[in-house]
Amino acid sequence: MNTYQNYIAGEWVNASSGATFENSNPANNETLGTFPLATREDTRRAIEAAKAALPQWSNLPAPARGVILDKAAQLIGARADELAAILTKEEGKTLTESKGEVLRARDIFRYYAGEGFRMGGDVLPGNFPDELLYTRREALGVIAIITPWNFPIAIPSWKIAPALAYGNTVVFKPASLVPETAKVLVEILIEAGLPPGVINFVTGSGREVGDELSGSPLVSGLTFTGSVGVGTGIYARAIKNLTRVQLEMGGKNPLVVLNDAKLDLAVALSVTGGFGLTGQACTATSRVIVEEGIADAYAEALAQAARKLVVGNGLESGVQMGPVVSDDQLKTDLDYIGIGKSEGAKLLVGGELVKPSNGGGKGYYVQPTVFDAVDSKMQIAQEEIFGPVIGIIRVKNFEEALEKANGIGFGLAAGVVTNDLNKAMRFANGIDAGVVKINEPTTGLALQAPFGGFKNSSANTFKEQGKSAIEFYTRTKTVYLKYG
Ligand code: NAP
Ligand code: MG
Repeated sequence: MNTYQNYIAGEWVNASSGATFENSNPANNETLGTFPLATREDTRRAIEAAKAALPQWSNLPAPARGVILDKAAQLIGARADELAAILTKEEGKTLTESKGEVLRARDIFRYYAGEGFRMGGDVLPGNFPDELLYTRREALGVIAIITPWNFPIAIPSWKIAPALAYGNTVVFKPASLVPETAKVLVEILIEAGLPPGVINFVTGSGREVGDELSGSPLVSGLTFTGSVGVGTGIYARAIKNLTRVQLEMGGKNPLVVLNDAKLDLAVALSVTGGFGLTGQACTATSRVIVEEGIADAYAEALAQAARKLVVGNGLESGVQMGPVVSDDQLKTDLDYIGIGKSEGAKLLVGGELVKPSNGGGKGYYVQPTVFDAVDSKMQIAQEEIFGPVIGIIRVKNFEEALEKANGIGFGLAAGVVTNDLNKAMRFANGIDAGVVKINEPTTGLALQAPFGGFKNSSANTFKEQGKSAIEFYTRTKTVYLKYG
């Protein structure tokens, strides 16, 4: 069995208690390795190491930091196949999905390597003669990074890359279900040339490691992606130290299908958005709101497409949907399917466990599932399931579709399928969601564009990705210089 370590102050170390936890493969329940169950004391040591490394790293010229990020991008690219296989083994998504995610991570590092040349401030007109008035972007400080399991390399990368590019040092705590992809990413950053202490890697329980990071007065910025429950607790704790906080959380994302939509496109977008990544994306389509005139044809075509999907071990070719990530998540999915039935929604397809011939019989597989006749007040229409379950909500017209799409606590992503330009634009303007997709799946993001949710999907403080990231990861200083 492989035994892995944490990386603190430039050294690979065990937990000071010696305790470990196991990482396993959701496709067959095999153990992949053990990782340190770090203590609060270990976490504090990591934070102190990041603090100590801050002056040197933040004073390095930004283009020189970019060189290291560029090297990291190259190393991710060179190890893409290996990384994709590790990712599939610990998280479950198909190899094709994993490879796409790894290449996304490579491109994120490329993008922020370039930011080394662009990170600048503003020059403003002064109020007096012979005065230079300008702003200077500086690193915020020590950044704590807490990530979920569903994108084991893309999400850590879209937080770590800008943090480092803008001169911050980092303590990174990955989700306990996916520590190995994270460990390889850290190895790559070290090989690329990060000085000791600039990145620290601490695995262990959210309640210990994550809680210590949230409550530390030495942490200047905390960026978290995960569930609303955990995020809210982190916010309450971090605010006591006036730590800057960014939270990106759950979704219950609608795809609106209007009468004029092309049926094939509507179905393809639903399958990609709802069943791609086994439905385990924060931007996954989980509600399809369909106008009456097309609803029967749509429901039948979606059910047919769902029946055809090949479910199995994501490492095997031909498999279109991998297992869910864990036994807990499987239980959640099945519980919600039970709730949907008892609420009176009509189960069109799926709802059962899958025993794929190629899965070894021990993995966590559930069928792609579609409910029809879902009422928007039902629990399965209001709560995030985070599995391959789509609920069809039938509506009379565009206005009712928009109202139902907005009638929820979340506001992450939303889509509409139509060729009616007027309705598409009214949807884009009227929807309460941070990401709007017109004739595209609710999932999938451009790394150069700002990303973040509205309402309970986010702390609504700072956007992630693209050039927006600089706002969270830097502080702005204003300088008045009189030279007359
Ligand atoms: P989670 O249970 O909230 O965990 C997220 C991270 O927080 C993990 O690293 C976890 O550590 C840690 N954590 C747990 N308890 C903590 C505590 N008390 N204090 C500090 N940290 C703590 O979420 P998940 O199950 O990994 O991910 C699924 C959720 O993420 C879904 O709700 C999904 O919508 C959301 N998500 C959102 C986005 C977005 O960008 N909006 C993207 C992807 C996913 P352990 O793993 O050790 O428990
Ligand atoms: Mg795992």
